[in-house]
Amino acid sequence: MLPMETLQYNLPQSHIPAAWYNIVPDLPAPMAPPLHPGTLQPLTPDDLAPIFPRALIEQEASTAREIEIPGEVRQIYAQWRPAPLIRARRLEKALDTPARIYYKYEGVSPAGSHKLNTAVAQAWYNKQAGITHLSTETGAGQWGSALSMACAFFGMECRVFMVRVSYDMKPYRRALMEAFGGSVVASPSPLTDSGRAILAEHPDSRGSLGIAISEAVEVAAKDPQTNYALGSVLNHVLLHQTVIGLEAIEQMALAGDEPDVVIGCTGGGSNFAGLALPYLGRKLKGKSQARIVAVEPNACPSLTKGRFTYDFGDTAHLTPLVKMHTLGSAFIPPGIHAGGLRYHGMAPLVSHVVNLGLAEAVPAQQLDAFAAGVRFARSEGILPAPESNHAIAEVLRQALEARAEGKPRVLLFNLSGHGHFDMQSYIDYHAGKLQNYDYPEEEIAMALAGLPPVG
Ligand SMILES: *Cc1c(COP(=O)(O)O)cnc(C)c1O
Repeated sequence: MLPMETLQYNLPQSHIPAAWYNIVPDLPAPMAPPLHPGTLQPLTPDDLAPIFPRALIEQEASTAREIEIPGEVRQIYAQWRPAPLIRARRLEKALDTPARIYYKYEGVSPAGSHKLNTAVAQAWYNKQAGITHLSTETGAGQWGSALSMACAFFGMECRVFMVRVSYDMKPYRRALMEAFGGSVVASPSPLTDSGRAILAEHPDSRGSLGIAISEAVEVAAKDPQTNYALGSVLNHVLLHQTVIGLEAIEQMALAGDEPDVVIGCTGGGSNFAGLALPYLGRKLKGKSQARIVAVEPNACPSLTKGRFTYDFGDTAHLTPLVKMHTLGSAFIPPGIHAGGLRYHGMAPLVSHVVNLGLAEAVPAQQLDAFAAGVRFARSEGILPAPESNHAIAEVLRQALEARAEGKPRVLLFNLSGHGHFDMQSYIDYHAGKLQNYDYPEEEIAMALAGLPPVG
């Protein structure tokens, strides 16, 4: 008989973390505070009260290292958490690499991605605060699906502004949100001042996350029963995702391995932060040597080509100013298939750790990302989301580098979701219809010229 090689490092349900990990008190330098868009003074909790519940506002600014996960949220997590940690042995063999490759698979959530980790938490805190409606934006549709699902769990209404290009390209995502009771409208829409202003100037606008955020925030700000929920970028969202890394640390211990490199793709930064920040916390305590690598698309390179400065989170400038790596809030990224990576900015927390030199950023081209995703699928049987393919492109690059050096290297990456609702992008890839995008230098220069005048 062949000896069995271990593929999965699984934990029992009792090992779902009891608290999220907040890295803020462990950072060597404090983050710059968010600013009020009108006064340019540091934001106060009251400024956010019209759109967020008190508990999430507190988490946004918290300096506590651990924040307890509410029992009801943990109970819902138990349906798919602890998420599996898998050793990609067949991929290692196919690449003939001495690298050991591990992935944390977040596609097992009923929403198909990591986004449900924060959707459930956000819906729960809003429900506790007596809120009946949530409004939000969605790019690829992953976040809108996760929040619609979470709202259904708690008997809340969900209104989703879906970026026009995805709305047209991804009817099944829309159907999924509607199945969970979400109401979906293409953004820019005629329902809001921000949407009408864009449509008046650009009737054929493809939309962007920045525009959809403006619409969703506007609806929440105007209605006391409606709050706003964001699927990435903010501190409290990244906080909720740390269950990923906390579990992975225990699972890697089961595997008897320590990662040399921790890798995640970055749109707004939440799945990357979810895996990487608990590892960075260990690194800051001297317990890990891991390099931490964020992978972003060439077409929307906020970390590698953006400026680290104060900018708006949205196009209509309704959100606070946050210090982040940004391409300018007027930048509308090319229509790459990884819709979840098409955001002009980056989480302030991820921007801050990259700026401190605690994490690195690299770009990946769309065609390399799809080639990597297909290669991964043929070995591992999981078809990744186009966003996750960007992380895999870097994993393959490093695995082949390890082969060239003839040295082992332990790679751990976040497989943030599956691609079952992204089949059109795979059809287009196989038909040779996808292209690489050059870094859109001129458009970015124009958008950066419009940055708000804050030091
Ligand atoms: C939304 C999404 C991303 C990008 O968002 P982050 O906040 O950067 O994680 C990546 N992968 C998947 C599967 C997503 O749904």
